[in-house]
Amino acid sequence: MPKQRLEGKVALITGGASGIGEETVRLFAEHGALVVAADIQDEQGHQVAASIGSDKVTYHHCDVRDENQVKETVKFTLEKHGRIDILFSNAGILGPLSCILDIDLNEFDNTMATNVRGVAATIKHSARAMVARRIPGSIICTTSVAATIGGTGPHGYTASKHALVGLVKSACSELGAYGIRVNSISPFGVATPLSCKGFNFVPQQVEDFSCSQANLKGVVLKARHIAEAALFLASDESSYISGHNLVVDGGFSVVNRSYP
Ligand code: NAD
Repeated sequence: MPKQRLEGKVALITGGASGIGEETVRLFAEHGALVVAADIQDEQGHQVAASIGSDKVTYHHCDVRDENQVKETVKFTLEKHGRIDILFSNAGILGPLSCILDIDLNEFDNTMATNVRGVAATIKHSARAMVARRIPGSIICTTSVAATIGGTGPHGYTASKHALVGLVKSACSELGAYGIRVNSISPFGVATPLSCKGFNFVPQQVEDFSCSQANLKGVVLKARHIAEAALFLASDESSYISGHNLVVDGGFSVVNRSYP
């Protein structure tokens, strides 16, 4: 396996300032990609980019809920690097936990705007750039185990991640004609600000939970495992894989029909 699996490729990663996105920014850069990390946490995003090196990673502000900002971020990436080969549309929020009887529909709308509309906008503008330059790109979205099973509490999150699996399939159906692959990754519980703040856990509690609930024993799920799945789907090693939802959950969703 070549060490530099993304040599010569340009990647746009949303949610790149933290958690799974940050780890993927680091791994893609290690593998030779030029990366634009987009997020709304500007200070943290600039720190991530600076810690890796400005020759490899650039931070750019982008609120994915705003189509104009997404369009401008794609334009920025094209002006800086001339192309986009990989979109990792990963930015997402959990939203509040509540019983469906008490669901806050404004919060529901915000979760859908971030997790679904935001991903649709990033696919639209990145894919336009790929099509215009005849680039056989790879688009990867971060869904969740919540994309395939039910759960108590974060209803907007579960609905949004189920919707994303459908969006990936429909985008895959159309973009295949241009040689563009569209896939998703469904992680289980990784200790990040999203899971820790959202479920009121410290990182160790998230890891203990995932270890105890996963079917696979002896492995602690880390953001790196998700980044490695993204690396595979971004690289030419997955050149015939499209429309796939790669579940990275240690078998959790095979034996459980509900989370958390
Ligand atoms: P995280 O909170 O560490 O990272 C999410 C990033 O998205 C943050 O940097 C945040 O600022 C950014 N973001 C939020 N709203 C945004 C917006 N409107 N525009 C641009 N950026 C925005 O959490 P994470 O766990 O790394 O989450 C990354 C993805 O992984 C999310 O889509 C999440 O749903 C998914 N996921 C996480 C887990 C888990 O257990 N951590 C499990 C399944 C799926």
